[in-house]
Amino acid sequence: MKPIQMVDTKSQYLKKKTEIDAAIHDVLDSAAYINGKPVQDFTAALNAYHGSGFTVPCANGTDALQIAMMALGLEPGDEVITPSFTYIATTEVVALLRLKPVFVEVDARTFCIEPAAIRKAITSRTKAIVPVHLYGHAAPMEEIMQIAKEHGLYVIEDNAQAIGCDYTFSDGTVKKTGTIGHIGCTSFYPSKNLGAYGDGGAIFTNDQTLAHKMKMIANHGQEKRYYHDLVGCNSRLDSIQAAVLNIKLKELDNYIAARRAAASFYSNAFANNAKITTPFVAPYSNHVYHQYTLTLNGVDRDALNVYLADKKIPSMIYYPVPGHRQKVFEAFGLDNYHLEITDWLTERVISLPMHTELDEEQLNYIATETLNFINNN
Ligand SMILES: *Cc1c(COP(=O)(O)O)cnc(C)c1O
Repeated sequence: MKPIQMVDTKSQYLKKKTEIDAAIHDVLDSAAYINGKPVQDFTAALNAYHGSGFTVPCANGTDALQIAMMALGLEPGDEVITPSFTYIATTEVVALLRLKPVFVEVDARTFCIEPAAIRKAITSRTKAIVPVHLYGHAAPMEEIMQIAKEHGLYVIEDNAQAIGCDYTFSDGTVKKTGTIGHIGCTSFYPSKNLGAYGDGGAIFTNDQTLAHKMKMIANHGQEKRYYHDLVGCNSRLDSIQAAVLNIKLKELDNYIAARRAAASFYSNAFANNAKITTPFVAPYSNHVYHQYTLTLNGVDRDALNVYLADKKIPSMIYYPVPGHRQKVFEAFGLDNYHLEITDWLTERVISLPMHTELDEEQLNYIATETLNFINNN
């Protein structure tokens, strides 16, 4: 059996090696390392994949979120509602810009922000909501957009884990996650569903003025070289990464299908086990399985993690400490938070290996060993 990895970017690369190596060499030959043709080509291709609107490439997913918040003109002290149960990048940029993160609950089944909790957290200082499509499943965007409309708030989607996910509205309209809010942000970190071989990110919006502003912010606030109209930053997707992404974007839907096949193998194996809750897929979303995450009931999760490691099966806890328990946010009055579902999930979730290259022998071994531990402990 091939060694099992949490994410196997190498095997995936080898399948496209000839094409990718050639594309990288083209960039080397062109010497247009920054803003070369691959950047423009990839930006256009990603925009087409999403259907319409405007795409601004940038250096990584964290910058994408930061640039989005800068472009919306949020000011120090403005409140931004976001789930506590997410990766630090989502909430870190809020604090970095001297805005106030307001952590709210998630739905225990979808792991995504809970609309009723958003409503309760709104104050006169609330300016924006940042839903996260965690693990590759959409947050309930229709309701979130409705809340935002009622209260005049901005919505920035953190789509770093869900590129390619489809959201179905109650009237049957289907849109890609990341294209529904005022701004959508994504990451091309190597382990993401569309991963580069280094860092990368992109921002999406349907608003041309906002797109223009974000493009300027990502480029030192300039439109005309050396004339700086806005406070910006330096956040570029480099040509080599864009060349790689351009090839991999064509495979994205195949990659998603491979992830779904692996997830479906796992979910069949774990069906009807009272101690295991497999990923839920809400009627409004499909799942792109950035992670395949179980919620365990009456199982020593950390002992399972150790048991699997002993069997050479990696597993991960995403994430061991939620936002409202992070030291970095202590200044925001964390003692006032009582996020029982978030705490409950934090103790019970475990993510199994999930990538495009898992074969049936590996999946069978992982499922069998997981069940071995759970049924005997
Ligand atoms: C990966 C990730 C980010 C940040 O992306 P980087 O490219 O690593 O900066 C933001 N939010 C979520 C939910 C992520 O998973």
